Amino acid sequence: MGLHDCASHPAGTRACYVSHKCRCVDCTGANLEYYHEWNRARLEREHGSRQSKYVDADVPRRTLARIRAAGIGLRTISKRTGLSRSSMRLLAMGERQRVLKSTARLLAEVASEELTT
Ligand SMILES: [Zn+2]
Ligand SMILES: [Zn+2]
Repeated sequence: MGLHDCASHPAGTRACYVSHKCRCVDCTGANLEYYHEWNRARLEREHGSRQSKYVDADVPRRTLARIRAAGIGLRTISKRTGLSRSSMRLLAMGERQRVLKSTARLLAEVASEELTT
């Protein structure tokens, strides 16, 4: 790895790594980052279609707790979101590891509408 020595690219440019074969720390890093990003996107494409519909239940569980702490019951939340009371109860009890992304979003919406004012 050498020093960055290129007039047409700033240090940390992947194009410099690729086309000028610059191997300075910054350009090498930029190239690695690109591959990590690319790999992540590829993995998501290949395996993520199912997983990515779900999110960790931790955040929505806390959101739900905050909504209920504000005095809004499951019945009201259910009416607002269309989520079933039993599934919210399971979430609240920690019986769910993951929830649908849409569930998390609906709860976040209720929270942002009800809890900020
Ligand atoms: Zn460089
Ligand atoms: Zn260059």
